Amino acid sequence: MARLAIDGGDPVRETKIHYSRQYIDEDDIQSVIEVLKSEYLTCGPKIAELEKKLCNITGAAYSAVLSNGTSALHVACIAAGIKEGDEVITTPMTFAASANCVLYCGAKPIFADINPETYNIDPAAIESKITEKTKAVIAVDFTGQVAELDRIKDICQRYHLVLIEDGAHSIGTKYKDIPVGNISDITTFSFHPVKTVTGGEGGAVLTNNKEFHQRVKLLRTHGITREVKELKNASHGEWYYEQVNLGFNYRITDLQASLIASQLNKLDKFKQRKTEIVTLYNKAFKDIPEIVLQKEIPESDTLRHLYIIQLVLEKLHVSRKQIFNALAAENICCNVHYIPIYYFPYYQRMGYKKGICPNAEKLYERIITIPLFYSMTNNDVQDVVRAVRKVIDNYKKRNL
Ligand SMILES: *Cc1c(COP(=O)(O)O)cnc(C)c1O
Repeated sequence: MARLAIDGGDPVRETKIHYSRQYIDEDDIQSVIEVLKSEYLTCGPKIAELEKKLCNITGAAYSAVLSNGTSALHVACIAAGIKEGDEVITTPMTFAASANCVLYCGAKPIFADINPETYNIDPAAIESKITEKTKAVIAVDFTGQVAELDRIKDICQRYHLVLIEDGAHSIGTKYKDIPVGNISDITTFSFHPVKTVTGGEGGAVLTNNKEFHQRVKLLRTHGITREVKELKNASHGEWYYEQVNLGFNYRITDLQASLIASQLNKLDKFKQRKTEIVTLYNKAFKDIPEIVLQKEIPESDTLRHLYIIQLVLEKLHVSRKQIFNALAAENICCNVHYIPIYYFPYYQRMGYKKGICPNAEKLYERIITIPLFYSMTNNDVQDVVRAVRKVIDNYKKRNL
């Protein structure tokens, strides 16, 4: 058996590979330079161009781009009417932003457990958490695979809840042939560099609901409008604008918008290559009894954002931490998505108790996110596979 690098052996590769990295080509660079040489660095023509592109790609009627995925979630919640005293149901197996946005509104995030096979929020768990205070559901498309949206939509319709889809992972994914962005009442995207499409920072809110869209656009710019039909008083002249609500500065720059639009031209390419890598991984790992893979549902035509291996700890001598560290020593730098949100001290202080979502908690102990990004070569993929095999082989229990 090959000696592990963590025990002094040779690593499977000399250079580190990380779990994610952005892909920027010459077109992307030119798209930013073009803006730098233009008249507008922010609030210019690139904003509307990107919004139109997002509508074309997703089929959504309206889109608004803004500073990041978190601000997108925040204004989505306000637009959906979430207020102090309300409850909003979401998953704990997500980035903190998916629940923090509810707190920003003075409302309470209620965590519903995940399906232990798909790792997405379980519709039955959502239904069991509904009270008369529930206003909305925030469904996260974990790793890029859509949540069970038909069942969740049905629940939302029956209980008159707004369905907000956190699509930070799922741009480019389709559900029953409908692109993410055109399925739920409101969908948000993030364009952070670890996500499939990046602008450095950036976010978007997509909807088919005109009223939601108008609220989002106001909230993005302090609640200020120049639209004549939105003014409460007679215009004082050309310069006139009014603040009609309390909003924020959640604007995005034209530099970022231009980069995101250029990145979106590569969405099909990104999907094709990432799907190839996922297929290679699936094949390599499917016969390793110490690993369980995320179940893929046929309804989701997925542009995968993350690839997660779940360890069968019962068949291993060591903890997830030891395996994570052994992979790092082999120069495979992994991550873990996610720590259940209510484990964080801030949430614990608010009174959330461990034990409320046992499936998510159990999963958290067992998962490792391995590298998945567009520019990985087949050799990179093979290195990751070899390292995972080598580490598992060293630490698996043997029946002598
Ligand atoms: C990245 C992410 C966000 C937040 O996006 P930012 O652009 O970083 O603010 C929200 N939800 C999920 C699931 C994410 O992965």
